[in-house]
Amino acid sequence: MAASGVPRGSSAPLRAAATGVPRGSSAPLRAAPAGVSRGSSAPLPAAPGRTERVEHHRERFGTFLEIEIGPLEEELARQDVGTPFNPHLDEAGRMHPAVWEARREAQRRSAAAGLYAPHVPGAHGPRFTRPEMQHVEEFVYHRSGLGLGLAALAWTEGPNDAVEYCTPAAREHWVDPLKRAEITAAFANTEPSVGTDVLAISTHARRDGDDWILDGHKAWITNAHFCDVIQVTAVTEPGAGTRSLTMFLVDANAPGVTRGRDIPTMLDDGLTGELHFDGVRIPAEDVVGEPGDGFALAMTWINWRRMIRGGMCAGWGQWLLERAVDRARTRTVGGRPIAEQQVVAHMLADMDADVYTARAASLQLQVDLEALPGGPAAVPLDPAGPRLMSLLKVVNDEAFFRVADRAMQVHGGAGLRKGSPEEKLFRIARNLKIPAGTDEIQRNAIARGLLR
Ligand SMILES: Cc1cc2nc3c(=O)[nH]c(=O)nc-3n(C[C@H](O)[C@H](O)[C@H](O)COP(=O)(O)OP(=O)(O)OC[C@H]3O[C@@H](n4cnc5c(N)ncnc54)[C@H](O)[C@@H]3O)c2cc1C
Repeated sequence: MAASGVPRGSSAPLRAAATGVPRGSSAPLRAAPAGVSRGSSAPLPAAPGRTERVEHHRERFGTFLEIEIGPLEEELARQDVGTPFNPHLDEAGRMHPAVWEARREAQRRSAAAGLYAPHVPGAHGPRFTRPEMQHVEEFVYHRSGLGLGLAALAWTEGPNDAVEYCTPAAREHWVDPLKRAEITAAFANTEPSVGTDVLAISTHARRDGDDWILDGHKAWITNAHFCDVIQVTAVTEPGAGTRSLTMFLVDANAPGVTRGRDIPTMLDDGLTGELHFDGVRIPAEDVVGEPGDGFALAMTWINWRRMIRGGMCAGWGQWLLERAVDRARTRTVGGRPIAEQQVVAHMLADMDADVYTARAASLQLQVDLEALPGGPAAVPLDPAGPRLMSLLKVVNDEAFFRVADRAMQVHGGAGLRKGSPEEKLFRIARNLKIPAGTDEIQRNAIARGLLR
């Protein structure tokens, strides 16, 4: 018996059985994918989410970067206040106000051009799906590198899936201005002594007539220093488990709100800080969703940050890979380019493998998340969702960390130079494994999903 299971000497066609094409037929042995004729110059079928509106968005974003962002970057460079990703800090350790203002101007221009927040409905028409967003995010991260252009696509300070559950009054007051980039937000969940264990937070709110009164202390909050509105999670029904928290939209300039100290991190961007709430009065219209929805809404926000990892890591990873290829070709040691050293060439190959596989896995995960009943931002999220979200985060965090590490190694000492893109992205890559849920917590969620 041959290995194939076809008896030796049998007259059965050896390959036709598998393809269904009789021997001697003039039909091609392997059919081309639908819509692609062999040998023709027709394009391959597009990847999931690579829709016409995505192509259009990417094209317009590219033009926007040149026409609108380029001059802003030049103006920033003239001021000697650092760069968007390596800003000088003010005396309180916060991002230099001129850098912050350049980012804000990039956001306002982007919103006016209809480019800022395609991930949420109503900012620039119907929302883009997650596979579509991965292509947009990858494009923006790849093309912008560490430039000002990144601020032009809504980041943690922008509109998000969780605030879509707001009241009509809050939409007018907070959410629509967020979509127009007139204001910025912060998401305040973590506290000085509670990060991972979200249900153990102590910030609390009690009813006072129709209003709520908020007291507590939040820490490690991105955009604490500059935000106009804060999405705060607080205990409203102690002991009610996953129904014990409520999310509020809090005016960052309301009486009782104090912006605390900056918390310097290895990111060195002067954007992470503390917030204090001392008897802050919140109108009923600024409750997001229903009282008790806070935990699920916090997860909605956190999951948004996990999902953007796909495009972010593919875009930045590809950028680092291209820079590493260039460096390997042009850096000579002993009169020969280091690319001729197999160990160096293999580092490039490993980077390529990581970028390619993380991108492909992410795209499939985005398709699966989009197909969940209710979609990826449903409250409550379909029970199949948490495992997929966590896979997306952990696959990207780990692949991108390896890519950033190798990028630095290929660059040698130049990669370690403070302020170089390799050095900064290595610090960012290390950071990614902690916020939006540590990678250990992602593994817990993946295992729970498998074992449920
Ligand atoms: C730069 C930066 C920006 C941030 N921005 C924000 C923000 O905008 N808003 C916000 O609310 N928060 C923000 N955070 C906070 C961030 O979400 C938390 O740091 C993160 O959730 C981890 O919490 P922790 O630091 O308290 O770690 P801990 O909870 O103390 O965890 C410490 C270690 O123990 C492990 N561990 C803990 N519990 C378990 C468990 N059950 N199973 C297995 N391992 C476990 C963790 O994985 C980790 O390795 C930010 C943090 C940083 C560094």
